[in-house]
Amino acid sequence: MSLSLAIAGKIIWVLGVIAWYFIRRPFARRAKRLRVVSDQRTATDRFGLFAAILGLAIIPGIYVFSGFPRSATYQITAWALVIGAVLYAAAMWTFRRTHKELGKNWSISLEIREKHELISAGPYALIRHPMYTSFFLMALGQAFLLANWIVGLAGLIGFAILFFLRVDKEERMMLEFFGPQYRDYMDRTKRIIPYLY
Ligand code: SAH
Repeated sequence: MSLSLAIAGKIIWVLGVIAWYFIRRPFARRAKRLRVVSDQRTATDRFGLFAAILGLAIIPGIYVFSGFPRSATYQITAWALVIGAVLYAAAMWTFRRTHKELGKNWSISLEIREKHELISAGPYALIRHPMYTSFFLMALGQAFLLANWIVGLAGLIGFAILFFLRVDKEERMMLEFFGPQYRDYMDRTKRIIPYLY
């Protein structure tokens, strides 16, 4: 029973990653066609991106297909599976909303593109970084779906590294570009958790 639950968790995780890829793909393609006005892609940001990909894709991917690191595996419960699936679904929904809302302003890194507009609608009305919220939800989902404490922590730590390396810089970049408009927007919103942080 718990073996099949463990397999179900892995299958849901794989389906989630596939969904993530297809949500993101059209935006990545479109973004390539727009000229970049300001590029803040630094070595630090690349390192953060690498940490996030390692924790959210490579380490869990290796675990799903090979069982490594086996010694950190524990027994999964049906509840963990349900919670993990709900978190992953919430992450994908939020991820999709943020992409639709950001539209042409989307970027994998920190950039200002031609005719960049400040978005403050939809999920952006409450928090400034809903896409990063969706990644934290995804990392939490991963921790519940894959019953291995190294794999569970890897996603959370990997994305936290990217988030904390990036968020101040991103807000500074937006402030420089949008000035008082972004300052007002900051006064009205939180970072990643509505009304809290
Ligand atoms: N931090 C945001 C966006 C991540 S994508 C989130 O978590 O939802 C990163 C790109 O989005 C950056 O290059 C930045 O230029 C752009 N960006 C961030 N916030 C924005 C906003 N409110 N309106 C328009 N573009 C934004």
